[in-house]
Amino acid sequence: MFTRRSFSLLLILSISSFVFSQKLKKADKAVVANLQAHVSFLADDKLEGRRAGTNGEKLAAEYISQQFKKAGIQPKGDNNTWLQSFEIYDGKQVNSATHLIINGNDLKLNSEYFPLSYSANKSIEAAVTMALLEGGAPWFIDLKDVLEENKDNPHFDLDQAIIKKAEAGAAKGASALMFFNSSQVPDNLQFSGKNKLESVKIPVIFLTGDARKKYLSDESATMDIKLKVDIGNKQRTGSNVVGYIDNGAANTVILGAHYDHLGYGEDGNSLHRTNERSIHNGADDNASGTAALIELASQLKTVKSKTNNYLFIAFSGEELGLNGSKYFTEHSPIDLKTVNYMINMDMVGRLNDSSKTITVGGIGTSPSWSQIFKATDKKKSFNVKFDSSGTGPSDHSSFYRKDIPVLFFFTGLHTDYHKPSDDFNKINYTGELQILKYILSIIDASAKTGKLAFAKTREQQMSTSARFGVTMGIMPDYTFSGSGIKVDGISEGRPAQKAGLQTGDVIIQLGEHNTSSMEAYMQALSKFKKGDKAKVKYKRGNDVAETEVQF
Ligand SMILES: [Zn+2]
Repeated sequence: MFTRRSFSLLLILSISSFVFSQKLKKADKAVVANLQAHVSFLADDKLEGRRAGTNGEKLAAEYISQQFKKAGIQPKGDNNTWLQSFEIYDGKQVNSATHLIINGNDLKLNSEYFPLSYSANKSIEAAVTMALLEGGAPWFIDLKDVLEENKDNPHFDLDQAIIKKAEAGAAKGASALMFFNSSQVPDNLQFSGKNKLESVKIPVIFLTGDARKKYLSDESATMDIKLKVDIGNKQRTGSNVVGYIDNGAANTVILGAHYDHLGYGEDGNSLHRTNERSIHNGADDNASGTAALIELASQLKTVKSKTNNYLFIAFSGEELGLNGSKYFTEHSPIDLKTVNYMINMDMVGRLNDSSKTITVGGIGTSPSWSQIFKATDKKKSFNVKFDSSGTGPSDHSSFYRKDIPVLFFFTGLHTDYHKPSDDFNKINYTGELQILKYILSIIDASAKTGKLAFAKTREQQMSTSARFGVTMGIMPDYTFSGSGIKVDGISEGRPAQKAGLQTGDVIIQLGEHNTSSMEAYMQALSKFKKGDKAKVKYKRGNDVAETEVQF
């Protein structure tokens, strides 16, 4: 367990910020104190890293709702509450209706048998002799030969071998396949809920060594088999927190920041490389942006200009693949056509005192941005690095995909990124105050422009592509729960576009390699080099089609 800060550290911290805040105006001091209070609450161990769908996320959502209420803005979530809830796909699970009964013995799930994650959901009753492979009955298959043949083959994939056998068996009339392993070669088989391989047509079961000894010792005996496989989706619920200032204006400015973080790193997105279970407090990522969002709500409530309405969204599920913002843009409580632009703040708490530079992304998403930034240039005490792209690894991408101009504020990566050490005491609160004021000045300057026109920008490549020589030029949809890689965006002039792939297509095979999951897709990509050609199999709607890409 990671202990976040001691009392003495807290004391030193409050003294040093007190000295600094002497130079600030009274109103600014109050904002800095508020930012500290918000980050201190959100990044406390009590919230256990605010993982989407956990109690820590709920406590954070309650806090943000209370703060929105205190700011005097109105709820704009489901049924006029603060929350907009959505389901998060959490892999597959074996439901309790699953059973295997052999000669009246109810086998124990996991210790005696388990279905494989690509098994079909079906019920079967049959009297069967193990040694016979009869049509209409389950077949028993020993993995001994295939395991021994391939025990020195590093490219051997047992799941793929089983799937091939299951497809061949189904074609010959087997009603189910019951695998076991009588060899000394370990099979390492298990039910893997994160596996996204497509289901085969018949149930596929593995019987453990225990079950094999107990029930399969006599090959010529007839067995009574009752089998039911029931595999379902595991789901958890995340919630966006949504508040609104209705100024009766025609257009609405959306301000957003994700408030979820990694929890203990259960979803595999931590960069902490030890086995010790630690809370990831996510002070910069993104308690900092959430704190800024709350303060912007309270300040925009008091401004006199009524040119825009303002919608504030604290997103959940961002760390899983922008789930919350995607859900929002598909289920918006306001007409997205009336959205003027969206401002996203993700990691705004580490303005570095020596480099004094922030990154602002999305400048290319409207021809008006450069003018607006010129008008606010004198109002900042730091440097700005501009990036034109409307996409990137945070929630503004979801709005850009709906043809809405966006801006993305970011103070940069650091060594505590996605580690338990991203803590409260490392945030530059006066720096964050400067950014907050800068954002207010941009909103103010934009009021003269009216509704901003949208412009398309280049796509930012997926971050993993740098490791490989080749890329397809697609943005995958990380929230897609089906088998394959769903295309969420396509870069102009890149291999995928040249091959005729479109947004919405699901890539299921690249060359000889299946691309059932993100891992499989990246593995497949790593097999090619520049200039190579590869067949791409993909689904468009219900059709499966094939094309060829050249890398
Ligand atoms: Zn993050």
